[in-house]
Parts: sequence; structure tokens; C-alpha cells
Amino acid sequence: MALTDRARLRELLERHGFTFSKAMGQNFLVNPSVCPRMAELGGAAPGVGVLEIGPGVGVLTAELARRAGRVVCVELDPGLPPILAETLAEFDNVEIVLGDVMEVDLQSLIAGRFGGMPVVVCANLPYYITTPILMRLLESRLPIEAITVMVQKEAAARLCAAPGERECGAISAAIAYYAEPRVLFPVSAGSFMPAPKVDSAVIRLDLRPKPPVSPGDERLMFELVRGAFAQRRKTVLNALSASLGIGKDELTQAFRTAGVDCGQRAERLTLQQFADLSDAVRALRAAGRFHF
Ligand code: SAM
Repeated sequence: MALTDRARLRELLERHGFTFSKAMGQNFLVNPSVCPRMAELGGAAPGVGVLEIGPGVGVLTAELARRAGRVVCVELDPGLPPILAETLAEFDNVEIVLGDVMEVDLQSLIAGRFGGMPVVVCANLPYYITTPILMRLLESRLPIEAITVMVQKEAAARLCAAPGERECGAISAAIAYYAEPRVLFPVSAGSFMPAPKVDSAVIRLDLRPKPPVSPGDERLMFELVRGAFAQRRKTVLNALSASLGIGKDELTQAFRTAGVDCGQRAERLTLQQFADLSDAVRALRAAGRFHF
């Protein structure tokens, strides 16, 4: 079934009494060139397991199922599985799990459904929870090799920004810790039904076997990253003094130990400098120099 044919898609949805939910971020892809490209570049191939989040009516799912060993999709909307049963009827390697991707036990799902296959994630994400989904996938340290997702264009730039780039933020640092990100290709707003207000882009995150830096306290390092970017117009020293509640004189000492310039702004700091700074703060704290 040509799910990218707008008239056919409308007929299918009407027949099932389906109405789009803005709250669930439902914008379905109707540009026929996007899904085959996403599936190819996302690594769907024989012997590979693919986890898809939010299959919608299955336009990307079909392209994944054609290429991969097995596809498991997590979909929140209970109105969609009956439609998917029709649109994906020709495939015997697809399973739909009804649930919220923020709550489903993904570790057990991957272990139970993919039986040792290499696993990738490929999805046109619901934009209202792009960052929480990506952080959940990365922080849970799932046994996945790559994440290829459609996100809003601005989000793509932020997620893939390197230190020193204008778009760089706390999320860029978090992504860079877990993965090597890159923007694959842009997708215009007109490629969706209904069309969203902004353009999109497909990005791919290749998960690192191990993070590029080794802070003594990972949580503290990310606390520093968030604190520094929360007030990005201030120097990191001023921003962190406020967010951590540490006096500037004491904090200056940590900057000196870490060899980080007190006058820097957050986007100029490398991940290594954040790691060194968090180690220096941790050492001062251990020495009882301040409490927080
Ligand atoms: N993959 C389809 C496509 O490309 O046309 C649909 C993509 S649409 C942008 C996002 C999909 O995610 C919808 O099917 C929506 O119902 C689903 N969704 C929204 N929130 C979700 C959640 N928390 N967990 C799982 N699926 C969700």
C-alpha cells in the first residue's frame, strides 16, 4: 500500500476513524524518498534488529522490515495497531508493542525480542519529547549501535553541535559523551501530513563503546554542564558559582587546578575541561572545602 499517497492515506485513516493528535506529535511522513533513505542510512540490513519509536501508520516501518532481520515498534496511540495490522500485513518480522517509550522496559525488550542480533534505533520521533527520548536511550546504556532519528531542524543543529559552535548547549555535551553525532539530510515541513511549522532533519548518533572522558563523578560533571549552560551569557565561573552555591574564590581554585580559564563561556569548554573541572570540584569537596 502506498502510504505516502496523501489521498490513500486519508482514506485509510478515515476508514479506521483515526484523527491526528497534536499532543502525541503525530505528523506522518508522505515524502516517498525519505523513509527508504532513512532505513538505508540507519543501518537496517539482514541480520540487524531495529527498534522503532512511534511507527504511526507504518511508512518507515515497512522500509525497515524490507531490509532488517526484525523490527520491534513501540507505539503510544492505541488507535494505530489496527491500522498497522493492515498496512504491515505482508511482513512477518514486525512486532508492535503498545506503550509509552518513556516507560517501557527497553533493556528487557531488546534482550527478549532481538536474540543477540546487533540492534539499531530508527524513528521519526514525536517532537514534544525528542530530548527525553534520546537521553533515555543513551543514559540507559542499551546494547544499541546507532540511533537514526528525524528531529526538528534546530534540534538537529543543537544535538550535533561541537564545543565552540554557536548552537552548542548542555544537550550537545551530553550527546558527545555517549555518541558521535552527525546530521544526515534535511527534510522539508511539506514532507509531512499534517505539515509541521518547522523543517526537520535526520541525524545519526553512533554510540561510543566508551565515553571520550572519564570524570570521577559522571553526575557531578553533568551538573556542571547544566549549570554552565543555564546562564550561558555569564562566564562559567559566575554561572557555576550561582548554580552550585559555591563562593567565587573557592571555585576559582578548582578552575586553577583543572587548568580552565575563569573567563570562558560554557560553549567554549571542551568535554575534557568539564570533566577536569568536575574532578577539581569533587576534590575540594572531599577535602571539606565546601558543601553542596
Ligand atoms: N513513524 C511515523 C511516520 O514517520 O510517519 C509517525 C511519526 S510521528 C512524528 C510520531 C509517532 O510517535 C506517532 O505515531 C505517535 O503516536 C507516536 N508517539 C508519540 N508519543 C509516543 C510515546 N511516548 N511513546 C511511543 N510512541 C509515541
